[in-house]
Amino acid sequence: RGTMTVGDLAKLLHKDASEVIKKLISLGVMATINQELDMDTILLIASEFGVEVEVKIPVEEDTFETVEEVDDEADLTTRPPVVTIMGHVDHGKTTLLDAIRSTNVTGGEAGGITQHIGAYQVEINQKKITFLDTPGHEAFTLMRARGAQVTDITIIVVAADDGVMPQTVEAVNHAKAAGVPIIVAVNKIDKPDADPDKIKQALTEYELVPEEWGGDTIFVNVSAKQRLGLEELLEMILLVAEVNDYKANPDKRARGTVIEAELDKGKGPVARVLVQHGTLKIGDAFVAGNTFGRVRAMVNDKGRRLKEAGPSTPVEITGLTEVPLAGDPFMVFEDERKARAISDRRSIKQRQSELGANSRVTLDDLFKHI
Ligand code: GDP
Ligand code: MG
Repeated sequence: RGTMTVGDLAKLLHKDASEVIKKLISLGVMATINQELDMDTILLIASEFGVEVEVKIPVEEDTFETVEEVDDEADLTTRPPVVTIMGHVDHGKTTLLDAIRSTNVTGGEAGGITQHIGAYQVEINQKKITFLDTPGHEAFTLMRARGAQVTDITIIVVAADDGVMPQTVEAVNHAKAAGVPIIVAVNKIDKPDADPDKIKQALTEYELVPEEWGGDTIFVNVSAKQRLGLEELLEMILLVAEVNDYKANPDKRARGTVIEAELDKGKGPVARVLVQHGTLKIGDAFVAGNTFGRVRAMVNDKGRRLKEAGPSTPVEITGLTEVPLAGDPFMVFEDERKARAISDRRSIKQRQSELGANSRVTLDDLFKHI
């Protein structure tokens, strides 16, 4: 990721190239005058010389998260709802996610090896539902903290033999704060001491009033373990989706959110991405957080290789230069050069805020070298 040479940097800092080289060596970087330096090194050297580099970032180049694209109503098509399962520990989130996933091995999908890609899709009545596979409030909170809104509907699981617990309340608050509709799954109804009405009663305190009591919250009794009520739960999700009419434009460059990412020994950096707008294609150049790449391969939750992935589709992609973070925005650009330039600008901005403000010198033309 070369941007400017040691010589260029020395000139900008009004230093001798030998001074810069000495500084580099003291930092463990062997360099010659014509060596290209990456942005991190440039910023580090500048700060070593007591110079804070302020990079001018053209506004139109930095519209990554801020610009809300406006789609023509006519270009929008219905997309599957994206659902998160939350609730208190041991109330059955994982069991429910697993039960739903295996409920839905339709003929067409048989033989597909389920793959952990951070989310999965099920199909019921020819309609798809996307489930985020990361129960756990941290993931949800982390993504929200990073400004990512990925969930359309939250299922709050409450064990019928237990009750409304601190993390139940937390989940309710998260969903409300995010403005996401809630469906309550009263779980473990197979247990002899299950008391679903007690749960309903307790949740009225949090303004979750069941429809049969005059409220507008959907409650479904389920047993994740014995697979009871799962179909009804899925149908209720589709009902909420229908009412809210979730839509996206599939005919544009993809945009979405990184759900998970890691460094795979064999594959290199991998990211599990939820496509939210547009269609992601093999070969697309993209930015994910501060990193960039080009989609080399895409695999869905059934382990199937895809050439394209439309709105609400979770995919695992390879072809990244580095590992992004969960919650990072993901966006396709017209070419790799542009994607790289944007990710560089983002890295610089981050570096700058990390380095903090000391003495301040503006190096306006730093970017002329990119
Ligand atoms: P999580 O912490 O919310 O992910 O909860 P788990 O899915 O790990 O479930 C916690 C425990 O409750 C496990 O021992 C499950 O087998 C059990 N469990 C989950 N759902 C049910 C259910 O519907 N009925 C019964 N009897 N046990 C359940
Ligand atoms: Mg669990």
